[in-house]
Amino acid sequence: MKEQLLSDPVFGMAAGQFDRVADFLNLNQSVRERCKWPKRILTFSLPVHMDDGRTEVFFGYRVQHHLSRGPVKGGLRFHPKVNVGEVAALAMWMNWKCSLMGLPYGGGKGGITCDPRDLSMTEQERLTRRFAQEISPFIGPEIDVMAPDVGTNSQHMAWILDTYSTREGRFVPEVVTGKPVELQGSEGRTQATGHGVAFLATRALNKLDLPVAGATAIVQGFGNVGSYAVETMNAYGMKVQGVSDVSGAIWNDKGLDAFKLREHVAQTGGVAGFPDSEPIDPDEMLLRECDVLVPAALERVITEKNAAKLRCKILAEAANGPTTQPADAIIEERGDIFLLPDILCNAGGVTVSYFEWVQNLQRFSWSKVEVLTKLETKLNQAFENLLHFCEQNKCGTRLGALAIGVDNVARVKQTRGLFP
Ligand code: NAD
Repeated sequence: MKEQLLSDPVFGMAAGQFDRVADFLNLNQSVRERCKWPKRILTFSLPVHMDDGRTEVFFGYRVQHHLSRGPVKGGLRFHPKVNVGEVAALAMWMNWKCSLMGLPYGGGKGGITCDPRDLSMTEQERLTRRFAQEISPFIGPEIDVMAPDVGTNSQHMAWILDTYSTREGRFVPEVVTGKPVELQGSEGRTQATGHGVAFLATRALNKLDLPVAGATAIVQGFGNVGSYAVETMNAYGMKVQGVSDVSGAIWNDKGLDAFKLREHVAQTGGVAGFPDSEPIDPDEMLLRECDVLVPAALERVITEKNAAKLRCKILAEAANGPTTQPADAIIEERGDIFLLPDILCNAGGVTVSYFEWVQNLQRFSWSKVEVLTKLETKLNQAFENLLHFCEQNKCGTRLGALAIGVDNVARVKQTRGLFP
């Protein structure tokens, strides 16, 4: 299994980062081994009735990286390239993220190998319910709490909640987060990740003594995270000049409006062809000059091919794992880019998911303003702690963020001990 995981490039990247941090922290062999490998790797075959009468079998995965600090928490992804290695890597990153943010969770991640664009909503519902049914014995509010990720949204969480609650014979909203507000989802959850990205970008601008109003930004990906990052940056008076998604990339020197662009995407399926813009090459867009570059799509888009050519002052990693290790080394060597590492930059989502879980367990709800204010306080604390740690330890923000996250988990493993 170890070899199979390590042969996956995304897991290899997460494991490589872990090894570097474990060396930095001087972890002993036992703790290092227990922290690195996932606790549970679940694979499900999911037969589904398709609309045309065929039966198709999909494969779904859930990786629970460790349960030493509480239930695991993490998204469920629908994407054609989902595989067990990628899911295990994402679960490991969630682990360090929850720990960095001081949330009482281990990391988890799930995925179903499918292209949601090829599935009708009824097919997606049958697939999601089948997955929820199969995984029900292995999840629960104190074991594993899922949330949306690439290709899934609050509707998918509603179907999981319904399937799980029906099986339990009672309403269990705390089994998932990122669900609709009428099912006790949290106010502010939908925009939380993008809001957090934009908020942290302003904190980085402050540290660089750059004005927020009029600061320029480029965003790759205009889904949940990207679109709300653009919306919040618009609200801060920043100018988002370039945006891309699977349909292509668009540019406007004066800045793009998130609301109008979202309407255009709802009507046409992508950002391409947006009236107030000109089309540009998506790869070239990443290399244009800007204050803040926000990769908010998939992994491994900043590589050794483009890292040296980036012309941003701040790299705000909204996506998980957008920067490869060789690219990381180039960015560290350059020393002129303020890196907001993914496990901090996109932690707004899991932080508000935690708030949602807490509200559900208490059968109590907070307003959107309360939620976003608490989120900003928590992100700011983590941001300041990280900068302090990096200054004390003379390290970059990638290593610093991972080191704080891994260290907390390692201490818990050490203190709990190993069953004799
Ligand atoms: P999403 O499915 O809502 O959106 C993904 C976007 O990326 C879409 O606009 C899609 O068109 C675009 N995209 C896909 N491939 C692309 C490519 N090659 N070039 C340009 N654009 C491309 O997903 P999301 O929820 O916004 O998640 C985006 C990233 O943020 C993922 O890495 C996810 O793991 C991470 N993330 C999401 C959350 C969350 O709360 N949703 C939280 C933390 C991290």
